[in-house]
Amino acid sequence: MTLIEYVLIGLAVLVAAGATVGFLRRGSTPVSIESPAPTAQIPSAPSDIAVDEVIVEPPASVDEALPEPSAGRLARLRSRLARSNSAVGQGLLALLSRDHIDQATWDEVEETLLASDLGVAPTQELIESLKKRVRVDGVSDPSAARTMLREELIELLDPRMNRELVTHADGRPSVILIVGVNGTGKTTTTGKLARSLVGDGRTVVLGAADTFRAAASQQLQTWGDRVGATVVTGPEAADPAAVAFDAVREGISQGADVVVIDTAGRLHTKSGLMDELGKVKRVVEKQSPVDEVLLVLDATTGQNGVRQAQVFAEVVDVTGIVLTKLDGTAKGGIIAAVQRDLGVPVKLVGLGEGPDDLAPFDVEMFVDALLE
Ligand code: GDP
Repeated sequence: MTLIEYVLIGLAVLVAAGATVGFLRRGSTPVSIESPAPTAQIPSAPSDIAVDEVIVEPPASVDEALPEPSAGRLARLRSRLARSNSAVGQGLLALLSRDHIDQATWDEVEETLLASDLGVAPTQELIESLKKRVRVDGVSDPSAARTMLREELIELLDPRMNRELVTHADGRPSVILIVGVNGTGKTTTTGKLARSLVGDGRTVVLGAADTFRAAASQQLQTWGDRVGATVVTGPEAADPAAVAFDAVREGISQGADVVVIDTAGRLHTKSGLMDELGKVKRVVEKQSPVDEVLLVLDATTGQNGVRQAQVFAEVVDVTGIVLTKLDGTAKGGIIAAVQRDLGVPVKLVGLGEGPDDLAPFDVEMFVDALLE
């Protein structure tokens, strides 16, 4: 080989290495990420999004302590549920334990249920079933009343719904989109979910596609850093679809188990927001199916949350609900209302502001906490 040929080959190698490292930027300092062999083919970006602005941020530091696994969390957080919602459960129990249940008592039962944001139709149905059981079995003592109420509440919350999250797919990362109105706890939920997944032994990449709120990317970066998850962000007002696309691409290239993408939720521009959300999903689907679309609802907003849910469900196929701030409200009835309205299960509940205060929802444990 001649000297000129050596020089040409050397230059080609340098250019190729530069292109790879340039893609993985951290602020202005280039860094490289150790990538396991990709398990799926990494596609190129669609022409209608600009991925060149996207920043892939590997974790800065990792907490020494591993996050708590998801199993057992609801049991730990049960007292928070009980504190806010037990007034409802205890109130119902007291009413149904009366020696004589007359129309005035049923009116009080109705009031209690409506105040918990159960909604009119489910309230009527529950009262009808309770009335029927009281007629047939009678209510002899408080423990019989408790058993009856427990069974009816469990039925109301539909224990047959599949609440499992898809957190690993065959040969590719599973993709979870987090959607919802601003302020409901979307970004916090994305971070908490990442922790919970890491606690369950999964590897996670986060996508900060809420590019309209500068703080959201920073917030997510902090969550990612703490659990050692790479966070893909973009500059403020970058195309959210580009960030989402690149987060999935990064997940594929790292061979991660799950990619969780936080999206924007500005309600005041409803049609714009919904168009954008539709685009995010379509663009992601050019390289991978979306396995879960989790709609985050703030339990304290009650029936308004149910209306929000309907709007989102028109644009994306919601696969599960995350009900946040259930620690600060006695309006747990929204769980049944929203499940029934959308035909979609509540999969996770937020029970506080702590990093591990997100738990898989379990019907029986929830009802028992209400009646404690
Ligand atoms: P986003 O605008 O939807 O992304 O909302 P954020 O994730 O920024 O959360 C808004 C506020 O809700 C923050 O102060 C969170 O700490 C708080 N929050 C989120 N989930 C919960 C929860 O389950 N319980 C409580 N008490 N606060 C929560």
